[in-house]
Amino acid sequence: MTDNIDITSLPEKVRKFGAFVDGKIQPPLLGHTTIRNSPAHDVPVTECASCSEDDVNIAVTSARAAFDDRRWSGLSGSQRATVLLNAGKLIRERNNEIAYWETLETGKPISQTIGEVAGCADMFDYASGLARTIHGDSFNNLGDDLFGVVTREPVGVVGLITPWNFPFLILCERVPYILASGCTLVAKPSEVTSATTVLLAEILSEAGLPNGVMNVVTGSGSVVGQALCEHNHIDMISFTGSTAVGRNVIRASGETNFKKLGLELGGKNPQIVFADANLLDAADGVAFGMCFNTGQCCVSGSRLIVERSVMPKFLELLKAKLSKVIVGDPLDKKTQMGAITTETQNATILSYIDKGKEEGAILSFGSGALDTDVGQFIGPVVFEEVTRDMKVYSDEIFGPVISVSPFDTIDEAIKMANDTKYGLAASVWSETVEKVLQVSRQVQAGRFWVNTTLAGGPELPLGGFKQSGWGREAGKYGVEEYTQIKSVHFSTGKRAHWIQ
Ligand code: NDP
Repeated sequence: MTDNIDITSLPEKVRKFGAFVDGKIQPPLLGHTTIRNSPAHDVPVTECASCSEDDVNIAVTSARAAFDDRRWSGLSGSQRATVLLNAGKLIRERNNEIAYWETLETGKPISQTIGEVAGCADMFDYASGLARTIHGDSFNNLGDDLFGVVTREPVGVVGLITPWNFPFLILCERVPYILASGCTLVAKPSEVTSATTVLLAEILSEAGLPNGVMNVVTGSGSVVGQALCEHNHIDMISFTGSTAVGRNVIRASGETNFKKLGLELGGKNPQIVFADANLLDAADGVAFGMCFNTGQCCVSGSRLIVERSVMPKFLELLKAKLSKVIVGDPLDKKTQMGAITTETQNATILSYIDKGKEEGAILSFGSGALDTDVGQFIGPVVFEEVTRDMKVYSDEIFGPVISVSPFDTIDEAIKMANDTKYGLAASVWSETVEKVLQVSRQVQAGRFWVNTTLAGGPELPLGGFKQSGWGREAGKYGVEEYTQIKSVHFSTGKRAHWIQ
């Protein structure tokens, strides 16, 4: 399909997507499919394969064969880089098409998905360089009789399990790095947002990726995801999603072949605002951090920790910003917040809003569900007078809901920021370098933003402290996660015999 599609209207018919195995679109063995309705328009938009455990076995066999015969890992870094660069170019050419189906399945604004897809192309460009620069180490200081070389080798077959909140972005924060390392993979997107993962596999095939190197099996987490986690021919799982399923992934790895794991899990991310911050910039940033992707974002800034002396003024500025956020039809280019992606997530967010009120927090901005003819929409919500025993203080809501807590001293702000089982991301807003440095050194988070939030690029790694996960994705650290290290010892002297 070319990119001259009308991205402002609903599709005339449901688009069908199969699984992608051994370089070809494949129908599922049992013939089962799932229809996805657009969460914003409540009309069917895509039909994807509901794969079974047998489909998973075929896909893993394909990825295993492609790894074991070295058709990909045996190429030079420069040959792998060529394929990744081709893929980046093709993603740019098909930007609108990818963004369109992503928006239809997720409910996120089309202007946002267009930007995300462009960022994804950039990740392929960046990772192409890594394919050429991954290297190990050498030790020339072991004495004249021994020389040591440390090499990096691809881990093997990766099972990649991704969620519904950023189906294409999260995929592209991993796939180019997995491929740069020389691994092969079987990807399993969320059942409700599978289309663009299949599109990426097609694109990579067109870009020159050998058959079997990237496979996609679509279907439910409990069948397809579980089968991948338990499969003895998979060497590593990269999982992004809830902490509860993350725990299950760890268990499955331990009970089978001790797969290496990369886990990116939940977050309850603080945004700390000091009195000396540029309050207008901070208000805009805090609003963006809580509303971007309708708050369905693992790095969403869902806890505002604000210096007490400026709290009333800051909340006034924040609410003025929030009152201007454009919520609505994701196919309208002006929309900033689209629909909530799944019915379950919609119900979860609304139940947290009810819980916050029941627990005695003060809902000082917003209401909850918006009154629309079709679709599920929730506007921004602010809770004040929040105490640490409340669910809205401690739980990841994954919606456009922020809880507000005042602080008086920097130590108190840091303590509050760390008062969570998570450690995914944090932001600080201040004009004083000493404050910013102290906070960035002492807050436990894998990503930290100073006078901005949710910024990033393919160079910078992603991942969490504490229960937010294991390992890192993206950047040079990300590609290294998909390698394992081998120490090679060369005897360079005359052997002193052990047995005389
Ligand atoms: P899940 O953890 O259930 O889903 C993430 C991925 O795991 C999906 O592809 C899912 O498939 C798959 N999966 C589900 N069950 C299993 C299993 N037993 N074995 C292997 N894979 C499985 O997240 P939800 O989609 O249910 O969201 C729940 C909560 O998780 C959210 O409210 C949010 O708090 C958090 N979350 C965090 C994300 C992050 O980026 N850190 C992303 C998404 C959610 P399928 O969807 O097809 O069932």
